[in-house]
Amino acid sequence: MTSTLSDYSKLCVHTFTTKPWNLKQCVEYYSRAGIQAITIWRNVLENIELKDAKAILDDYGMITVSIARGGFFPSTEEKLRLEAIDDNKLAIDQAAAVGAPSLVLVCGADGRQSLETSRDQIKEAIIKLLPHAKASGVKLAIEPLHPMYAGDRSAINTLAQANDMAEEINSDYVGIAVDVYHLWWDPNLEQEIKRCGRNGNLLAFHVCDWNVPTIDFLNDRGLMGDGCINIPRIRGWVEDAGFTGFNEVEVFSTKYWATDQKDYLELIKNAYLKYT
Ligand code: ZN
Repeated sequence: MTSTLSDYSKLCVHTFTTKPWNLKQCVEYYSRAGIQAITIWRNVLENIELKDAKAILDDYGMITVSIARGGFFPSTEEKLRLEAIDDNKLAIDQAAAVGAPSLVLVCGADGRQSLETSRDQIKEAIIKLLPHAKASGVKLAIEPLHPMYAGDRSAINTLAQANDMAEEINSDYVGIAVDVYHLWWDPNLEQEIKRCGRNGNLLAFHVCDWNVPTIDFLNDRGLMGDGCINIPRIRGWVEDAGFTGFNEVEVFSTKYWATDQKDYLELIKNAYLKYT
């Protein structure tokens, strides 16, 4: 069942959505706009001590929903696979340090090998990371990516594949991030969302829109209502599957980044109530 959103209590904004802002600006302006939750893209942690980042979040009472992103596990080169494990351990440490309960995984792909081999390497890497994730209290959220990224960004392209992997790994510390941008086209989406919820794997819900036409496959995401995704319907499925977490606004958009970010934040709030 689909209900209308009437307030901002479940609204979370990804820092990459307002990419021109640093962490302090994101936290301060989100908070001023009545937004209580944030997902932190790791780029905004690069020039700041983690304890200072945590202090900023605490000062504003901001809830940190997750850290984005880890992953990029597969490679034909063992050295790169090992480096990816180290980088993901660092990402888990960063998540723990700022109080984020989960790390979103853009799992990766290497066009020099088959998707099956890449998926095997992803699974192997996640299993290797589990002890560190557990010890740190940080869950790993597999995010299936749209098939247009299968050559380089993720060999996990449907919710069914993500469900398969999470169920095979079968750990309380592994779940799934459902992003409407990547999954809206899938004819099996409703049943796979049900399956994801039934197995306790539904960790996160990301929203934006699919522009028609899309002029750039990375940085031309639409704001909710700009494109062709029926977001309320998908949110309804996610909620029916038992999800009670935040609706995370994740818009990568060269167009919106070029505008005044405070005005843009107001557009996001309006689009959130109207089209999410
Ligand atoms: Zn996402």
